[in-house]
Amino acid sequence: MAAIEDYLRSRPRWVRWREWLSGRRYLLAPFQDRPRPLVIVAYAFADAAKAQELRLAVARDWREVPERCRAAYDETLAKAPGLVVVQLRRKNICGCLGHRHMVVREAPFAEPHEAFHGAGVGEMDIAYERVATWQALPLSDTALDTKFLEGSRLEEFRTAQFRLRLLSILLHEISHLVFPHEPEASIRERSLAFYREALANYVENAMASMSLTIDRSFSRFGED
Ligand SMILES: [Zn+2]
Ligand SMILES: [Zn+2]
Repeated sequence: MAAIEDYLRSRPRWVRWREWLSGRRYLLAPFQDRPRPLVIVAYAFADAAKAQELRLAVARDWREVPERCRAAYDETLAKAPGLVVVQLRRKNICGCLGHRHMVVREAPFAEPHEAFHGAGVGEMDIAYERVATWQALPLSDTALDTKFLEGSRLEEFRTAQFRLRLLSILLHEISHLVFPHEPEASIRERSLAFYREALANYVENAMASMSLTIDRSFSRFGED
């Protein structure tokens, strides 16, 4: 990760200026439990908040999903290119959530560089507005909304849900990069299973902490 940061900083000043003025920014998002792949979020300055959510999804939420969710992607991540560039966009003209790219187009990563230490580079795009409105699991998504609406933690829930969606789409597109001949249906089945279980785990923990708060206030009445 430090090598990539150094590389981005060490490029000629005019290149960095042009990039800065055009509003292009990069965020590095490492998985905490493995050295590779390093996710590089490429985004427009205006989308900085969404880019941070994607970084958090990889660098923090991944560690907190159940072990079996991570295990399902062990092989995929082990075989993934060392560097995975995600072009984070507001929307795609075709309306898709994301795509893998056949060739890397993001300028600083389009050509091999010694700073990559021989790591391969893969690229994809993710359209975040589409992700936010995506009904991944129509029935349970709506049921959960109601649950958290009652608990008045709906905003917090929706943000966590958005990050888990980003994470599942990232893993979905990495699977396409690693297994180009695997059918869409089976890649989709895995990424939806990941999302379903990771979300259920989040909900379970959130509900436990909510009822803990309620229990405490009740027991306060009971004491003394
Ligand atoms: Zn498309
Ligand atoms: Zn797909």
